[in-house]
Amino acid sequence: MIDRIKNAVRTIPDFPKPGIQFKDITPILSDPKLLRETINLMASPWKKAGITKVVGIESRGFILGAMLADELGAGFIPIRKEGKLPFTTIKESYELEYGMDTIEMHIDALRNGDTVLIHDDVIATGGTAAAAHRLVEFTGARVGGYSFLVDLTFLNGRTRLDHDVPFEALLQY
Ligand code: AMP
Repeated sequence: MIDRIKNAVRTIPDFPKPGIQFKDITPILSDPKLLRETINLMASPWKKAGITKVVGIESRGFILGAMLADELGAGFIPIRKEGKLPFTTIKESYELEYGMDTIEMHIDALRNGDTVLIHDDVIATGGTAAAAHRLVEFTGARVGGYSFLVDLTFLNGRTRLDHDVPFEALLQY
């Protein structure tokens, strides 16, 4: 089944800019059986982890993230690019290849006592997930795990995350 899921991920060369091999997960989303199986496989390592909230990173992290939250009986919290969330936010900046980017989360989204699963569709350099981790910790909540569909292992993103926190990625490239 993992092979069927991996075969459905489409690699688009030079999108959105030259040199990027973009991993397009939309063929998984459009296939009801593959989508269900993907969620089952991604959720299973966390069933007994006491996850109370899944934090999904804009924007593709919202799709599987919200489904994972439902599957785990947890709430879903969006982390968005600066300026998109309507209520009071906390912010965190991180370095990109060229320049900086800023992500935000609602100030009241998490509280001390929450155990959080950080989710995105793809981990590349890990900068976004590391910034998401700092946002979660600022609230007093605990990061209980990282869950990605795809790990671009050649970029070593995992090494930028907390080594003491469990890490799962269904597909490796
Ligand atoms: P990162 O470098 O790990 O901070 O990734 C930045 C964001 O871009 C994350 O939301 C990733 O999901 C996304 N991303 C980075 N590289 C790719 C890629 N090759 N294909 C699809 N999404 C990507």
